[in-house]
Amino acid sequence: MERINIAIDGPSGAGKSTISKLLAKKLNITYLDTGAMYRTVAVYCLRKGVSVNDAAAVEPLLKEINISYIGDPLDRHICLNGEDVSTAIREHQVSKAASDVSKIPAVRLFLVEMQRKIASEYDVVLDGRDITSYVLPNAKYKFFLTASPECRAKRRYEELKAKGQEIPYEQILADVKDRDYNDSTRAFAPLKQTEDSILVDSSNMTIDEVANFMLDAIKNK
Ligand code: C5P
Repeated sequence: MERINIAIDGPSGAGKSTISKLLAKKLNITYLDTGAMYRTVAVYCLRKGVSVNDAAAVEPLLKEINISYIGDPLDRHICLNGEDVSTAIREHQVSKAASDVSKIPAVRLFLVEMQRKIASEYDVVLDGRDITSYVLPNAKYKFFLTASPECRAKRRYEELKAKGQEIPYEQILADVKDRDYNDSTRAFAPLKQTEDSILVDSSNMTIDEVANFMLDAIKNK
C-alpha cells in the first residue's frame, strides 16, 4: 500500500507547522516537524557547551543523541534522551543555533535517515526546508509555503510575545532575514522551491484558507 507522504517546505515563520498540524488532523495522519529535530540537536550542543559551528566537535555528539516522541499523535512532544524538550527548543536563541547546526552534513544525514524511516512507516505530513528536494523527492504531494519576511517576523513577534518573550520586532525581522539567508545558501540541501512543488504564499491568507487550498490540491491530485 502506498504511504501518504505530504512534503511541505518553506522559510521560517511561513506557518508550516500550524498548517501541517491542521492537515494531519483533517486527514487523520501523523505530523512530523523536522525543524524540531534540528532544534533538539542544537539544544544538546548548547547544553554541552559545544559550538554549533564546529562540525568536528558536533559530529561525535550525534551518537549520544536519542530522539523520541511522546503524547498525543496530533500534538506529539519531542524528547532528547528521554527528556521532553518541546518547550526548550522554542527559545529564541535556539532558532539560530538550529540553523547553524543544520549546515553540518553529518547532522543532516543523521536526521534525514530518521525522517525517511518515519515516512516509510506512517502516513505523514512532514515540514522542513529540504523535504521536497532531498528527504522525499518522490513524495506525491509537495508544497512550498512562504510569506513576506515582514509578515513572518510579525507572526513570530506575536507568538513570542504571547509566551512572555518580549523581543523587538526589528530584531526578529533581522533574524528572519538572517535565517533565510543561512538556510537558502548552505552548501548541502539548501532551502529551495522544487519545480514540482505547489507554491502557496500565505501573506494575505488565513490559516483556514491555506489549509483548504492545500486540501483541495491534495484531493484533486
Ligand atoms: O522549522 P524551524 O524554524 O523550527 O527549523 C529550525 C532550523 O532547522 C531552520 O532554520 C533550518 O536551518 C533547520 N531545518 C533544516 N531542514 C529541515 C528543517 C529545519 O535545515 N528539514
